[in-house]
This record gives sequence, structure tokens and C-alpha cells, in this order.
Amino acid sequence: MASTEVIVIGGGAAGFFGAIHAAQAPHTRVTLFEAGRQPLAKVRISGGGRCNVTHHCFEPSQLVLNYPRGGKALRGAFSRFQALDVVHWFNAEGVKLKTESDGRMFPITDDSETIVEALMFAAKKAGVFLRNNVLVQKIERLEGDKGDSKFDVILKNGENIICDRLLLATGSSPSGYAIARSLGHELEPPVPSLFTFNIKDSKLHELAGVSVNPATVKLLISNSNPEKKKSARNQLEQSGALLITHWGLSGPAVLKLSAWAARELHECNYQAKLAVNWIPSLKVEAIKQILLSAKTEQPKKFISNYCPVDISLRLWEYLLDKSEVELEKRWADISNRAIQQIVNVLSASEYAIAGKGVFKEEFVTCGGIRLQDVNFQTMESKICQGLFFAGEVLDIDGVTGGFNFQSAWTTAWIAAQGINS
Ligand SMILES: Cc1cc2nc3c(=O)[nH]c(=O)nc-3n(C[C@H](O)[C@H](O)[C@H](O)COP(=O)(O)OP(=O)(O)OC[C@H]3O[C@@H](n4cnc5c(N)ncnc54)[C@H](O)[C@@H]3O)c2cc1C
Repeated sequence: MASTEVIVIGGGAAGFFGAIHAAQAPHTRVTLFEAGRQPLAKVRISGGGRCNVTHHCFEPSQLVLNYPRGGKALRGAFSRFQALDVVHWFNAEGVKLKTESDGRMFPITDDSETIVEALMFAAKKAGVFLRNNVLVQKIERLEGDKGDSKFDVILKNGENIICDRLLLATGSSPSGYAIARSLGHELEPPVPSLFTFNIKDSKLHELAGVSVNPATVKLLISNSNPEKKKSARNQLEQSGALLITHWGLSGPAVLKLSAWAARELHECNYQAKLAVNWIPSLKVEAIKQILLSAKTEQPKKFISNYCPVDISLRLWEYLLDKSEVELEKRWADISNRAIQQIVNVLSASEYAIAGKGVFKEEFVTCGGIRLQDVNFQTMESKICQGLFFAGEVLDIDGVTGGFNFQSAWTTAWIAAQGINS
């Protein structure tokens, strides 16, 4: 029986996982091309060098809720290969994963090198032929005499190789997008997701390091589409830990918001208004009552020295300053109007976002191959037979927490089944 030649383009998480599983089938020869000198570069730096492999969420219907783009398409995919399957797979490869209190899963070694080594070893064991430092420049489709099609894979060094099946796992690389376009695919425009917010407020910057958990952040975009579904508008408000930095705001609440609002923020050139609720656990009226009680219970204390709500004194002082009440006043002398000003600032302080942060916490790309052109049963292109996709090259991205690797593992595993079917 003639062997099936499979070429995988891209030696990231998706390319490796796809290659390893495709190579399990007898009579399948898999060659993986990686443009970089070393493969798995992003796995190495991921999760602050610890690699947040997946998330402890083993219910597909819950798992999909963490994908601003692609969740619907992944629903069926996760019912076939989900986070628990990833845990089992790494376990079988000798890598134990542990779960942190927020659900993120890491190797027990806390070292991404463990994941790199496991993938490299599994690829070797499966007989994947790995070629680093080779950029795939162009693909030409060859029509066979029996109606079957093959691909001519043209490398930058001038070499060319013919294959039967092609797995495009090039992440957000422009050369991968160009290959997809040349084979008839359209892209959702790629824009950044998962970033921090720059806020020009020197007094806020002085609080760098202060974190509040939970806080609620809400994007106030004036030109946001009124036609947009209520559920989509709700996603422009996110809760979680909020971290004040030397340049603005960060932390899970901001990263989640940047992901859900990636397109809207790009459209307004990262200039928008943000409302922060510093104590979302309390309703506005409850905050007001707590402040009024402070007036009667601690009348002699200076307002700047006594904070009756659960935030740090440094943040309280900053917020009092922002609410424009006189810091030297005692609680007894605070007017009802001033109380209302403080309530407003605690529950809905406004900040002007003046750009996105340059520090990549867990940076991914929103956009990529249009999902309606891909059959999610096999990850094969509906436009070009024999072409398969996996990972970030697709218009799929998740929030922080291991969800981006999870979609790479799942789409790659399904692509491998599709390649061998
Ligand atoms: C700093 C950082 C930390 C992150 N941490 C996490 C985390 O902890 N958990 C998580 O879930 N996600 C994390 N992510 C996101 C995650 O890394 C990506 O979603 C994931 O790596 C995507 O995998 P991929 O294989 O699709 O693409 P990539 O990892 O980008 O791999 C694509 C590969 O294709 C190669 N390539 C591209 N074009 C060609 C070509 N023409 N020829 C040959 N090779 C080519 C590239 O060199 C690259 O190696 C992080 C991202 C960053 C930047």
C-alpha cells in the first residue's frame, strides 16, 4: 500500500500535536516544517515560563464560554477532545499537571521545558520527520489524473516536496495567512487580543502593585453598534482581579475585557472610556449607607484616615482625591453631596484608555481563517480538499487561563483524525 505523505507547516503547539497524532496511522509519513531555528518557541515562553497547558474545566458547554471567537464552532470539537483528554495525554507521556486555585493547569515541574520535551519526545517516537529553520514559501495545488489532488510545497531554500495532505498550523504568521489566501481562503482581519490598558493618570501610577479582587471594568464605547445583541454588549463588562501598574490597568479583568472587546478597541484605535467599579460586591445604595454610617460612627476621624469599605487606604485616598472632596475634612463634616460623589467614584470611576500596553502577558491574535470555510468534524477546508487547519491560524481565540493552548490541542487532534480518515 502506498504511503500517505503529510506535511505540517508550523512547529508550534498545534503543529506538533497534529503531527504526533497524524503519524500514529500506519502508512502515513509526516514531515513538519518549522521556520524558526527551534520549534515550540511560544510553548517555551508561555505562562511566564511555566506553560499554562489547559484549564480545569471538563464540561465542553462551560469550556466554550471562554472563547470570544470560535466558542460555537468548538462546542462539538470539545465533545470529542477536551481539557480532560489533554490531561490524560500528557499523563500518558509522563507529564503530571496540577491545578491552581483559579483553574489554570501547569506541569508539576512549573517549567514549560517539561511540555516542550514531552512533545519533542512524542514526535520522535511517532516517527515525525522534523525540519527546523525551513520556511514554507508557497503551495501549489496539483490536480491528479484520478481526480485526486496533491500539493507542491515550495520551500524558501528552493526545494520542493509533493504531499497528499497539508496541515496549516502557522499561528498568526503572515506567511501562513498568505498560503491560506493563495488556496482560496478568506481571513477575518487579524487584530491583537489579550492586552493591558494604558491610562495617563500619574496619581494612579503611584499605586502600581495595588490589586483589587474582584473589580468590574466596563468599556464605554459611544459608537458601539446598537444592533449588537444584548449578550455581546454584556461582554464589554468583565469582573475579576484588577491590577494597577506603572502605565495603567492590568490583571484578569482587563485581559478578559481586552479579548471580548478586541475588535471594538481596534476600531477606536485603543482610545475609549473605561468605568471601574472598585467594590462590585456592594450595590450603590449599600455603599451609600456604609458611608452615612461612618459619618455617625466615626465623626471625629479624618475621611482620609478612615476607610469604611474593603479597599486599601492608599486606594481610598486616591479615590477620595478623584471624587474632589476635601481630604482634610472629618467624617462629621461631610455633606450628603460629597457622600454621593464618593459613591459615584467607588462604583463607576471613569478612566480614558490611551492605547494598549506593550507588555505581552498572554498575547494572541483575534481573527484568522474564517470558520464557516472549515469543516469542524475534520478541520478540513471546505474550499480546498486535502488542506487542514489547526491552532491560532483559525479565527479562534480564548481568554487567559490555558484556553488558547486547549483550542490548539483540540483542533490539531481533530485535524489528525481528519487527515487519517
Ligand atoms: C508570551 C505568551 C504567553 C502565552 N502563554 C500562554 C499560556 O500560558 N497558555 C495558553 O493557553 N496560551 C498562551 N499563549 C497563547 C499560545 O501561546 C498560542 O495560542 C499558541 O502558541 C498557538 O499555537 P499555534 O501552534 O497555533 O501557533 P504558534 O505557537 O504561533 O506556532 C506557529 C509556528 O509556525 C511557524 N511558522 C509560521 N509560518 C511558517 C512557515 N511559512 N513555514 C514554516 N513555519 C512557519 C512559526 O515559526 C511558529 O513556530 C501565550 C502567548 C504568548 C505570546
